[in-house]
Amino acid sequence: MTEKTPTQPASSDEYDSSLLTVEQAQARIMELAAPVQETESLGLHDALNRVLAADSISPLNVPPHANSAMDGYAVSATDLPDSGEATLKVIGTSWAGRPFNSTAHGGECVRIMTGANIPAGTDTVIMQEHVQRNDDVITIGSGHSAGQNVRHPGEDIAEGSTVLPAGQWIGSAELGLLASLGIPHVKVKRRLRVAFFSTGDELQPVGSVLKEGQIYDSNRYTLHGMLSQLGVDIIDLGVIRDEPAAIETAFRDAAQQADAIITSGGVSVGEADFVKGILDKLGKVDFWRIAMKPGKPLAIGKVQRAMFFGLPGNPVSVMATFYLFVQPALRKMMGQTVIPPLRITASCKTTLKKRPGRMEFQRGVLSIENGKPVVDAAGMQASHILSGMSRANCFIELPLETGNVAAGEAVTVLPFHGLIG
Ligand code: AMP
Ligand code: MG
Repeated sequence: MTEKTPTQPASSDEYDSSLLTVEQAQARIMELAAPVQETESLGLHDALNRVLAADSISPLNVPPHANSAMDGYAVSATDLPDSGEATLKVIGTSWAGRPFNSTAHGGECVRIMTGANIPAGTDTVIMQEHVQRNDDVITIGSGHSAGQNVRHPGEDIAEGSTVLPAGQWIGSAELGLLASLGIPHVKVKRRLRVAFFSTGDELQPVGSVLKEGQIYDSNRYTLHGMLSQLGVDIIDLGVIRDEPAAIETAFRDAAQQADAIITSGGVSVGEADFVKGILDKLGKVDFWRIAMKPGKPLAIGKVQRAMFFGLPGNPVSVMATFYLFVQPALRKMMGQTVIPPLRITASCKTTLKKRPGRMEFQRGVLSIENGKPVVDAAGMQASHILSGMSRANCFIELPLETGNVAAGEAVTVLPFHGLIG
């Protein structure tokens, strides 16, 4: 960053001690999130996007037998010459899938193909390029080592070892890996149920005609997308008017059906008091202000037994707070072992405006130029500019204490990874 601001604020309005840092908020949310306990056994196809509830143990060795890493000749190491040359008689061939079923004795060898079983009486493979063959006799020089070019049973995965640990999310690679071991069923956590609704008198459903002052409800669509990609069951409760009875009914309805409730809008100063009254009746919810942009206000807690995430209304704030706070908490509730997101250092192509005292997640376009990662700003950075989220493929994460970024400076980026990309 160009100017490293001192830890002490230069002026009192740069830092607000009543704000939580992003890290503090993340830690508190993760503490509140508890994994679901119920499990079920599923066939492999149905297990996609689920989370393993128990370690997957390999029922076999991979590879199952010692086999050759090369096309060549299988020999006994005792026949290898220390110096000069040795001649060996070729007594047969071991093919991948069609092993040589006899035994090689002293002075004998077996022609062998890549992936073919190592025949009895042999333990070493000589590459075909390193021998001279005349009819059924080969000549080998010195310098070879015992056991070379042999793949050992269980070298990739040993029988009885843990292939995938409990808490592992099952994607395409995991499905294939389980199939490669002949595992037909896995024990997984039950699917998480997540209910969500939008609040705001100005919001209209897609398909209606807008009147003066109205806008379409886009947050339920971004939430629908991000939740679907997480692999949870989604319960869309629609748009709820800014009216206490309607909001209370929606919360009761959501808490009855879901493990987690997500709302957007209604948590900013001015609106919060009115939602707060309802939530005080139904559970325990804290209203936070976070030192970040976008997404400063956030309401977090429990509504009856459900975990509650009250996100701000602005469309970019919804996506950023979902990515930073909701997504890791839901993963934990799904039983998943949560790993921190990938962070990449990139050179910033443009200047970025940034005020010290809050962490910013600006929208960026990450690419490679001359073999090095570079990032450009994805247009205007205000919290209502959803087109910027669409153009972006990463957040540019600017730390709390830093100021403006000059072109050419190194910045940290968080690639979207398909979840919200
Ligand atoms: P609020 O947090 O309710 O004060 O809303 C902040 C801003 O986000 C306002 O401009 C709202 O109109 C807008 N907003 C709230 N909810 C939605 C939504 N579901 N879709 C699009 N914009 C919204
Ligand atoms: Mg509102």
